This record gives sequence, structure tokens and C-alpha cells, in this order.
Amino acid sequence: MTATPRTSIDELPLRPELRGRTPYGAPQLQVTHRLNTNENPHPLPAELLATLGEALGHAALELNRYPDRDAVALRTDLAAYLSRGGERVEPAQVWAANGSNEVLQQLLQAFGGAGRTALGFTPSYSMHPIISAGTGTAWVDGHRREDFTIDAAQAAAQVREVRPDVVFVTSPNNPTGTAVALETVEQLHDATEGMVVVDEAYEEFARTGTPSALSLLPGRPRLVVSRTMSKAFGMAGLRLGYLAADPAVVDALQLVRLPYHLSSLTQAAARAALAHTDALLATVDAVKAQRDRIVATLPSLGLTSVPSDANFVLFGRFADAHAAWQALLDRDVLVRDVGIPGWLRVTAGTPAETDAFLTALGEVAPDHR
Ligand code: PMP
Repeated sequence: MTATPRTSIDELPLRPELRGRTPYGAPQLQVTHRLNTNENPHPLPAELLATLGEALGHAALELNRYPDRDAVALRTDLAAYLSRGGERVEPAQVWAANGSNEVLQQLLQAFGGAGRTALGFTPSYSMHPIISAGTGTAWVDGHRREDFTIDAAQAAAQVREVRPDVVFVTSPNNPTGTAVALETVEQLHDATEGMVVVDEAYEEFARTGTPSALSLLPGRPRLVVSRTMSKAFGMAGLRLGYLAADPAVVDALQLVRLPYHLSSLTQAAARAALAHTDALLATVDAVKAQRDRIVATLPSLGLTSVPSDANFVLFGRFADAHAAWQALLDRDVLVRDVGIPGWLRVTAGTPAETDAFLTALGEVAPDHR
């Protein structure tokens, strides 16, 4: 029997702007030390695991019914969590979806789209331009300084010139770890009539004195702060992202969200997790300690890093970053080659993972600096 030849994507009537693209995704390799996707390596606390099964079992009893379409109870819990920082956030200001990627996609569906433009300060989270492309939104690269910080005046001038409909500010930034000053966010907001989305996926790892843009929300209905339970909460597998903004923004997102987009199991698991916020976030300080240990050790290996407020470190400089990436992989340590010449990104993990990384790097560095 002859096999039917496999159809190639090029034979399909695909949207022209998607032709030739490759799907986003870090390599999923079988490696002992996986330090490439900025996950929290710590397992869920026992006290949460004990109640999670019960919460899911309870939700399962009603799986014949659609979930709460507006996820009111979950949004109430998320608002309570965000209000812990001192700035009161109401449930009507919160929206949740399957990972902050879906939150960002819904934002672009509502505020971007055909004939509209998004701008973000690259290098930054590479999904921002990819989700822009997927929603038919044009993309413009914003400038950063050589040290990866944002020059507020220059950035505001660029925003005034480009007039984007959506401005992305990632703080702390992925892949550089760079936090953005609130004054910069304010200046960017004042420079545009479009939406300003502050992607704070890594906010909980920020060093003291690095405040969240949540405090800027009052009186700024075009400002959005997006967060996730994938990083500090250590629940990347749950797929739960959320945002805080003016209730009008939440109304706008209701126009583009799919009905019942958040399954009742997701809502139940997220609520169970939020009931154990303190236990979950107890690992944040441990991760930050490993991040700071990596930063402190790099100079003794003849390497340097970009100051990081996240759970990862951009380190270098290498003559050939990809060769250094491969040499680390040969030693069973997987980091991320984010495509910035001279630099690689490593996720801060457990002390044992940091040991393995620093040992491998000690072997690799002399030949690759
Ligand atoms: N924003 C940033 C800056 C990220 O780095 C990530 C994940 N790598 C996300 C958003 C998306 O995370 P999730 O969809 O898991 O919430």
C-alpha cells in the first residue's frame, strides 16, 4: 500500500502573513537540568495538593454544565490577591484567561487588529509580536539602550511618532530581567492615545523598591497590568493569566472572549491555589536567592549579567552564544538562546540546579568568552 503524501502547509490557503513562519516554543529536550522556560522549579506545597483534589472533584460534579462564563468568584479572589500590595483592586477591574498569553491575545483582538499597530521595546517577550501577527496587528520595534534599559524621553518620542494603538511595556522584562520605572510607564501613557499594556508576568520576583504599575491604574482607563500564575505561583501547567484595568477594559474584552473560555476545572484549581497564596509564594525568596547567587558568581567566571528583577538572568558575554548554549547542553544543562548576540538566559531554579549550572558554566566559560 502506498502512503498518501503528506500535505505541506504551503499547499493550504494560509493567510499570507503566516507563510514561512515557525511556531513559537523553546526546545523541549530531555535534559536533567531544564533552565530554559522560567518556570518555578519548586513542587506545589503539600497543603495545596491536599485540597486541590477535593476542589477539582467538587467541580467535576458539575462538568455537565458550562462554567461560570464571567468567572466572578475567581476574579474576586484575584482582586483580593492584587489588593494585598496596598492598592485596592475591585473584581470588576480583573479579567482572567488561559495564561497571560490569552489575556494578551484578547487585548490585541479588542484594541489591535487590521489596520492597527502595536509597539514594544525589544528585545522583549517574543510572543508580543507573534500575537500581534496572529491578530493582524502591525508590529513596530521600540528602542532600548545598549544596557537594555528604556530611555523614557526617547521611547515617548518614538511612541508619539509611530502612534501605536497598543504599547507593550514588559516589567521586569523578558529576556533581560530589566524593570521599568513607573515614571517611564507614565510618560509612555501620556505619549499615546492607545492602550498601554504593562506585562508584569515576573513582578513577584522584583527586588525591593521596584513597584508595580498597579498603583498607576486609578484615573488611567487606557492602562492595563497583566499578570500570571505561571511564574511566582509555580503553576505554569494550570494556564491562568489575568489582568487589572479599568472595568471598561474588561467590558471590551467580553466582546472578543470565547464564551466559557475558562473551564470550571481551571477556575476551581486557580481558586484552590489562591487560597494557599502564602504557601505558594514562599518559594519566591528562595528563587530570588538563586538568581542573586548566579549574578554574584558570574564575575569569577569572567562573565557578566544584566541586573535582573525576574527569576532568570541574562548572562554573557560570549564570542558565540549559540556555541556556549550547545556546550552547556552537552553538560546536561538547558538554558535559552534568545537570539541576542553574546548573551544567554538562564532560569533561577533550585540550589542543586544552580550548582549544576555554575559547574557546567565554569567548564564552558574559558573557551567561549
Ligand atoms: N509575559 C511574559 C513576559 C512571559 O515571559 C510569559 C511566559 N514566558 C508570558 C507573558 C506568558 O505566560 P503565561 O501564558 O504562562 O501566563
